Amino acid sequence: MSKQNGTVQTDTKRAANQAVVPNVRFPRQYGSELLVLREGKGCRVTDSKGKRYLDFGAGIAVNALGYGRDDLAEAAAAQMRKLIHVSNLYATEPALELAEKLTASGPFEAVHFGNSGSEANEAAIKYARMYAYRTRGEGHYKLMAFSGGFHGRTLGALSCTFSPKYQDPFRPMVPGCVESPYNDAEALERGLDGSFAAVIVEVVQGEGGLTCMTREFAHALNTLCRKHGCLLIADEVQTGLARTGSLYAHEQVGLEPDIVTLAKPLAGGLPLSATLVPERVNRELHQAEHGTTFGGGPVVTAVALKIWEILSDPDFIRDVAARGARLAELLAGLKRDFPQAGAVKGLGLLRGLELPEESLPDVMAAAREAGLLVLRSGADVLRIAPPLIISPEELAQGVEILAGALKAVLG
Ligand code: PLP
Repeated sequence: MSKQNGTVQTDTKRAANQAVVPNVRFPRQYGSELLVLREGKGCRVTDSKGKRYLDFGAGIAVNALGYGRDDLAEAAAAQMRKLIHVSNLYATEPALELAEKLTASGPFEAVHFGNSGSEANEAAIKYARMYAYRTRGEGHYKLMAFSGGFHGRTLGALSCTFSPKYQDPFRPMVPGCVESPYNDAEALERGLDGSFAAVIVEVVQGEGGLTCMTREFAHALNTLCRKHGCLLIADEVQTGLARTGSLYAHEQVGLEPDIVTLAKPLAGGLPLSATLVPERVNRELHQAEHGTTFGGGPVVTAVALKIWEILSDPDFIRDVAARGARLAELLAGLKRDFPQAGAVKGLGLLRGLELPEESLPDVMAAAREAGLLVLRSGADVLRIAPPLIISPEELAQGVEILAGALKAVLG
């Protein structure tokens, strides 16, 4: 391929041609006081008053390698001395090298770099519509997504996130986005037809209570998307890159996505996302149809290369799976002492414990008071997504603090 078409192409080494979507995020804080964090080392952060916390949230599943890393700081500094930005008329070596590694991780030919998970999904949605338009003509633009899913806050991604809390103030949504119940193969079969461009789905619903995809549902998605000629997009923004105990979560359930989106841990906390696309989609994209100014810049991709080296190592991934299983056991242990607790949910080091909805803010505040930062997923799941370098001792220590918080709130 010689055309420049909005992706960094590994075959031709052509540069990205990209456009920015601003992302506004409002802080959601638990506890009465705004927590101001000053520094961190490993899995611990210190606030502006000098109080230390064990971090079971990792910047909402972002800081996969923890805090205060000299190797990442040096990679960023060295690249900043060479080049910070080059415009999307040119390529840089770190971006090309990262694109090579990402595309080689599956049946992909190209990667579109962006700056956030929403942008990665936005690109995936646009590519799917473009592909349907070019290969099947007009009228095949619909998108299916699932109850409890979360795909981001830009309008396209938001239109596939069927939560009134997120959608209502911003209506009308993008036309043609259809909701179907998660893990319901029969509803999928009834709802999907040739008018759809794509189905977008998470393997673990990161913001939707950590519900995991069943193998049966994965099989139905593979089969029905193929049957109707629509693309299957796996949103691995939260689950990708070792978090669930495999490089990609879709491997664990046999899902066969055409497009995969990544973001959170990709550059360890610097803004970088990736939309991985196969050859048949990439070849239909024309020059300048999609793009961004900053996506895939040399500094973020230089840092991402260091992170990729660690997160893609099979030994590291196996170890995440083992520590994730240990965390699940520790959480199951809490259920013995607190009958109010429900199921242990999630995969790998993306885990959660169901708790009575009204108790969650208090449990989170009590944990914070005792020096542990935790997250919420959906209405009634306490979510744990620590840095992936967390030790078994730190996991045990954190769960002990959590037990104290549960005792203080639930009795
Ligand atoms: N997709 C999933 C699965 C997510 O968890 C998130 C963020 O939480 C997004 C998309 C949106 O990512 P961002 O906030 O970087 O736009």
